[in-house]
Amino acid sequence: MKRMCLMKNYAWLKINRDENNPKEFLAANVVTRDLKNFGKKVWQQKGWLKSYFLQRITGKIDYHILDKIETPIDLIISIANHFEPNPTAVGLKTAIASVEEWCQELEDFAVRDFDGHPFKHSYYFPAEQYNPELLFPLEAHCSKGFGEVEIHLHHGIEIPDNSNRLRERLEKFREKLRSHGFLSYDIKDLNKRPRYCFVHGNWALVNSSGGRFFGVDNEVEILAETGCYMDCTYPCAPNIAQINKINSIYECGYPLSQSKPHRDGRDLIVGDKEPTFPFLLQGPLLLQWKFTSKRMYLPYIENGALNDYRIPSIDRFKLWMSANIHVKGRPNWIFIKLHTHSLQNDHRNSVRGPVMRRFLEGLSSFFNDGIRFRLHFTTSRESANMILAAIDGKTGNPDNFRNYRFRLFYPPRFS
Ligand SMILES: [Zn+2]
Repeated sequence: MKRMCLMKNYAWLKINRDENNPKEFLAANVVTRDLKNFGKKVWQQKGWLKSYFLQRITGKIDYHILDKIETPIDLIISIANHFEPNPTAVGLKTAIASVEEWCQELEDFAVRDFDGHPFKHSYYFPAEQYNPELLFPLEAHCSKGFGEVEIHLHHGIEIPDNSNRLRERLEKFREKLRSHGFLSYDIKDLNKRPRYCFVHGNWALVNSSGGRFFGVDNEVEILAETGCYMDCTYPCAPNIAQINKINSIYECGYPLSQSKPHRDGRDLIVGDKEPTFPFLLQGPLLLQWKFTSKRMYLPYIENGALNDYRIPSIDRFKLWMSANIHVKGRPNWIFIKLHTHSLQNDHRNSVRGPVMRRFLEGLSSFFNDGIRFRLHFTTSRESANMILAAIDGKTGNPDNFRNYRFRLFYPPRFS
């Protein structure tokens, strides 16, 4: 009996064990009842948990942060949407229909942020799922200002990948996206080489996934060479690929040619030199303490994922703010980067329809009064530009810096 109670207390560790396969994970939640397995799972999480408790002790994560910083507080929200229509599994026709349906539903949200921008997503489209017909609906959608397309890649799944093949795939896909009118260029680059943001498939950036989705040690170097300026892969706990560095905007701390150069690094600071590209924008990673139906007070992992098990809410939003992710020296520009797989069955209802509508209406009523709070719906690129503007000492409304450094080849018509 004692052992049963103990295990119930640890049930949180099994939630969202692997987002790519939540059903299997939930089944494990019921079936797994041995301490050995539990110990293994805690051990897997120890790196980031240590960082989390350190950030709590030092006040970096602060549930009362909003009372301590100068107003107005700019809340800069971006969604890294792992946008996977999966034509091989569902058939091309169904995949196209699901993309079209998604675009229409997002466009139906009437909500606008402080600057008049609609709620928008960054569509991280998997290179290996490319079919021009899946991108055509996004061309029209993005030209209206509802989002931007960036690069996502799953690789090394059946056999380990290698540097040359990876470089070639990224370059090819980058050019394909460019031919659709997507991606951006650096205003400092006279040749206007296409630049992009990146999310790694299966979270396994630079072999972070314990030998799974194995590949290329100098992956970040190849990302940089092929035009990547920001990575938005993290957080991914409780997935094994989670690194120890959390709740940060930072540059890689080790040479890019090394394995996992992003495992640690220097936080970006106002007044500092230009960061090494790609720098990393992380989303919130925290513990949320909740009473369960059994009247136990248990911690759950809050990783900024939007799915049907964890729908968006104002309570969660407050938690995301407490992660206090900003460029050091500009504390009132708070970056909230979330992630979802909006075309996946067990994610779709959390990011569309009445659930999302209610959440966005809540945001508008509580966090967009213009005096204490200003909401900014951004894409990854716009967030990156605001980060770079902050480093250069820019102040005021971050809306002025959406196109500060990286600009779209074809800006949306409304802006
Ligand atoms: Zn993916």
